[in-house]
Amino acid sequence: MTLTLRFGAVSDIGRTRKKNDDSAYAGPHFVMVADGMGGAAAGDVASAVAVHTMQRLDGPPPEDMLEALAGAVHRANERLAELIEEDAAVEGMGTTVTAVLFDGTRIGVAHLGDSRGYLWRDGELLRITHDHTWVQSLMDDGRITEDEAKVHSHRSLLLKVLDGRHDSAPDLTVYDVQPGDRILICSDGLSGFVDHDRIERVLSIGTAQSVAQELLQLALEAGSNDNVTVVVADVVDDAAPVAAEPIMVGAAADSHSGGSYATTSTLTGAAVDPEELRYAPRPPRRFRWLTRTAAVVLGLALVAVAAVVSYTWSQQQYYVASSDGRVAIYQGVHLDLPGVELYHVYETQDLLLSELPSFRRSQVLDELAADDLDHAHSIVEELQTFAVACADADRSKARECSGATPAPATAPTSTSGSTAPSDTTSATTSKPPGPTTPKPTPKTTSKRPSTTRVPVPEATS
Ligand code: CA
Repeated sequence: MTLTLRFGAVSDIGRTRKKNDDSAYAGPHFVMVADGMGGAAAGDVASAVAVHTMQRLDGPPPEDMLEALAGAVHRANERLAELIEEDAAVEGMGTTVTAVLFDGTRIGVAHLGDSRGYLWRDGELLRITHDHTWVQSLMDDGRITEDEAKVHSHRSLLLKVLDGRHDSAPDLTVYDVQPGDRILICSDGLSGFVDHDRIERVLSIGTAQSVAQELLQLALEAGSNDNVTVVVADVVDDAAPVAAEPIMVGAAADSHSGGSYATTSTLTGAAVDPEELRYAPRPPRRFRWLTRTAAVVLGLALVAVAAVVSYTWSQQQYYVASSDGRVAIYQGVHLDLPGVELYHVYETQDLLLSELPSFRRSQVLDELAADDLDHAHSIVEELQTFAVACADADRSKARECSGATPAPATAPTSTSGSTAPSDTTSATTSKPPGPTTPKPTPKTTSKRPSTTRVPVPEATS
């Protein structure tokens, strides 16, 4: 037994709508209906995108129908997200999806929203989808009856659709089918206006295409104020099936098959279409570009403020180092950044490096950090004291002047409380704590005791 599908599909704008937001597809292995809605009236785009993306399932049946359906729904959702990303004006658009994949013995059904899927068998019409609507949830809770739902003021409010934003996981189900079964998929333009029994009777006679056409006509006569879309697929035992051309109707048939959609033409309607109110759980973020620009500007401003603060701080730092063979006071922080000058000679002293004892000379070459400008001046004064002492000293006896490292025993105890390393003879000349690199790091702590003086080596004669 070789089961195949014979299919028919129709879609109509209806009697009151300005455009058709429904899209549908029918092929040998795949049929679907998408009912677009929302936001800036880009429902036609949403439904067309869903149909164009998902109709690629119409081919040799996959191993796992439900996985294939879920994947196709996911891809369609991603495509909607891309379009919304490209054009914020279409944010808020969405579409229902009711899709049926046929593998020769079973059908897999993917469903989101309030379009309907039915299986007609032996004269009985079975609904195979569950509406994702507010009134359906009230019925599920037993709070209203089906008759009350039909006239409920929020009967068209949807709880779940494909909208490119949420994780729009569809309901997925599988049904066995047999020859003589009839699959009906429709938008609420039919199911909301023609009752179940009437549909059931119409399905009992006629071809797939004629039945679809008849149901559409019934909906229009029943006063449907919505777009109406109907797809019928018959399961037949056909040993030599005739290849039938797939049918695409509604907005999907009007848009480019390549998946490129012009959305601006749909955005000019001034009147609020009731369809726009069907699904708007969040208002469209129309000023997202403005928010992003403001965030970027704010970020740049913070970086600029940080740079100014850092530079201002750096110019309040001083250190003593050498400049052209002389002792000099530098302002700034000895850091080399491309394009930024963070330090410069503030004052050059008369004191020559060569006048200093070798140990002090090497300290100057390594740079001596100062707490502030006064501190830098006092370091220079002390260095001058060393120079004078060395000049007066018998250089053969003064250890400082001979170039030897001063003995720890001669070093005064630092009043800062920290352990004085052996090469530290006074708080004024101690290097800032930190890396052993000769470059100074900005000094912010360990205020120098103003009373500490460096002992002058006693001159001997
Ligand atoms: Ca509709």
